[in-house]
Parts: sequence; C-alpha cells; structure tokens
Amino acid sequence: MPDRPPVFNDREDAVLTDVVGALIESERALAELEAARVLQFAAAMRVALHRREHRPRAVQEREMALRSIAAEIGVALRWNDRTVQRRLGEALQLVDDFPATLRALAEARISARHAAVIRDIGAELADPSVRAEFERRVVERAATDTVVGTRAFARALVEELHSVSITDRFANAQQQRRVWIDDAVDGMARLGVLDGATKIRAMYDRLTRQAREIRAVARSAELDDTGPDAVHDRRTIDHVRADLLCDLVLTGRPVIDPTIDALPGGLGAIRAHVSVVVPALTAVGASDGGAEVDGLSPIDADTARRLLADCPAWERLVTHPITGAVLAVDRYRPSPALRRFVRARDVHCRFPGCRQPARRCDLDHTHDHARGGPTARSNLACLCKRHHTLKTETPWTAQQLLDGTIEWTSPLGRSVTDRPERYVAFVPVPDPPPF
Ligand SMILES: [Zn+2]
Repeated sequence: MPDRPPVFNDREDAVLTDVVGALIESERALAELEAARVLQFAAAMRVALHRREHRPRAVQEREMALRSIAAEIGVALRWNDRTVQRRLGEALQLVDDFPATLRALAEARISARHAAVIRDIGAELADPSVRAEFERRVVERAATDTVVGTRAFARALVEELHSVSITDRFANAQQQRRVWIDDAVDGMARLGVLDGATKIRAMYDRLTRQAREIRAVARSAELDDTGPDAVHDRRTIDHVRADLLCDLVLTGRPVIDPTIDALPGGLGAIRAHVSVVVPALTAVGASDGGAEVDGLSPIDADTARRLLADCPAWERLVTHPITGAVLAVDRYRPSPALRRFVRARDVHCRFPGCRQPARRCDLDHTHDHARGGPTARSNLACLCKRHHTLKTETPWTAQQLLDGTIEWTSPLGRSVTDRPERYVAFVPVPDPPPF
C-alpha cells in the first residue's frame, strides 16, 4: 500500500474547514435576505391588489395595475416583468398562507428553495388548518433534509392529508395541460408537454417501441453490409426517440380535424414557421458567428446557412457599419414594406427585457396615431399583446428616436432605453419571388 499522498495535508484540511464554515454562513445570510425580499414583494403585491379594487371595471383593466407595478420593479432590477409578476404572487402567498415557512426562512432554518417547495406543494391544500399541519411537519423535515428529499416527503404528506379524491384532483389538474418551449444552451431547446400521466407514458412507450424497431433494422443492416462504403445508423435509442417525435409533430396530421372543410388541406397543410436572423458574414460563410431563431434561441452557423439556402426568398436589411442603425431595405418583391421593415428591425417585442418574437407582436404607433403620430418607421415598434396593453392602459409612456431607440418612462419616473437589435439581417419572405 502506498503512503497517503503528500497533497492531502493538514493545511488543506484547515482551508476546507474554513470554506465549509463560510458557506454555512453565506447560506444563512441568503435565507435571511430572501425572507426580507419576500416581504418586499408581498408589500408591492398588496399595493397592486388595493389599486385593482379601485378599478372595478373590466377584468383586463384591473389586471393592469399589477402589470404596471411588475414592469416598474422589473426595469429597476433588470428582471423580466413576467417573472416579477409571478414572484409577487408567490411572495404574497407565502406571507398569507405559509407563515411558519416564512418564519423558518427568516430564521435560516430552511433555504429559499425549500420554502418554494413547501409553498408549491402545500398550495394544493385549501383548508387553512390542514395546511398549517402540513407546514408544521414539512418545515421540520426541511430543516434536516435536501430539497429533493423534502419534495418527496411533502408530496406523500399532501396525499395523506388531502380531502379531495384523486378523481376530482385529476379533473382539475387536466385543466393545466399545455405545451411549452424553453431554451437550452449550444443551439438546443426543449419542448415540454404536461398532460395526463397515462397519455404521456403511452406516448413515451410508442416512441420507445418504434425506436427499438429502427435500432434492430439498423443493427442487422450493419451485420449484412460490412463493405468499406457502408453507411451505418449510429443513433442511440434517445436520438431515435427525439428524431421520431420531431418528425411526427412536424409532418403528421391530427386524426380529428374539424377544419377539413374550412381550410384547404386541413390542419396537415399548416407548416411550421420560424424567423431566422443571420449576421451577413455568417450568411456568406466568412464567419461562423451565431444566428438566432425568433430572436430567442441562438443556433449554429451551418444550420443557419442551410435554412438560408432552402428559403425561396429573403429580404435584406442594410445597417450602418458603425452605429448599426438600419439604413435601407431591399427586397425581391413589392410588399407591405414598412411592416416588414419594423418587424425585421425589432426582431422581438420592444419592451425592455421582453423577447416575444416580432411576428407574434402588434405594430404599435409609439406616438399615438389618433394624436398625430405618423405611420413611419421611426414611429412604429413591435409590442407583444401584454406590453401593448401596458402602454395604452397604464401610465407607462414611450418615445422613439430616429434610429429606432425607444425611451420608456415608468409611472414612478424611471427611464429605461431599449435599442433595436444591431444586425445585418435576413428574414424570410412568405411568398416566392416573381421570377
Ligand atoms: Zn413584450
């Protein structure tokens, strides 16, 4: 047996002991700060609710007080205002419905992530006394367990304490079914589906069994064909499952299609549509700088060039080499030029921090058209529904400069500037060119 290597010496053990001690201190301080922040968010939420009560007209109008406050805080913290709005609601919920959890957080007995798990799972319990019992037992557990362990414990406890049958809860939970995307790194993204467990497991089972058959065919082809030119399918079962799902969604037709008489070709004729923004040097192959899909997800240069080559027509935007301001659009066919110019310039919604793709946005007159604002490129901007209504329904105001820069002013007087993306950009034209 060799001796203990000299690198593991007592001095290093002492350093590690200090590090662990300091980390425990940091964790404690973070928990206390988080409890303070929860109280601040909750206070802002109470102001929003109070204002909402005093604007009893349309439901949407009552929502505006909350959105305006969320935007005010978002701009100040450089957070997305939707995130702020969610955090405001969660904070008030913690203060009102989970006082013991908040106390444990303030005393640094549990972390912010433990508190979030308790609030998330405990929210299913409507009866305050049942919830208090749940809270008491989970907080005790959280003080000595990891977040994952606490979550499992909390779920089991909710089942035990629940007065509503699983049938009723499933019927309720079904109302939450949805599909969403979120970005991953390195040009990848995720597609999520929330639906009944039976349906989701059946989907996974079918993909797996189809993938196994494909793998079996690939393996026997590999055994049969061992020549030097043989091309083998080296995809793993994970790869094949992912490829199959993409194929089915991108090219499949729904079995039930109520549009078949109203829409030529029915739902199957609807093709996927994304906007790709490619820096000019990448497009011509002089650079491998990244491109973007929908102004949201970065993609690799090869994929971008292949999309460019496959697209029937493109519109080119020329930007000033130094300031990056958009100077001109030249296009291959006449079209509602202004609309496309603004969409291409903005790429996404122009409220600070919002990344809703331009094609899903409204074109808003920055200076109201009815009050003399011209329909010109320096007075139009892409705004998503949420931020369009924020601008029209609340005291938020916006001013646009000649280069497309927008200066927003919040109800409390905070200014924030949003500049358009600086690209020489290519965006797809929906129809083929006339030549
Ligand atoms: Zn927006």
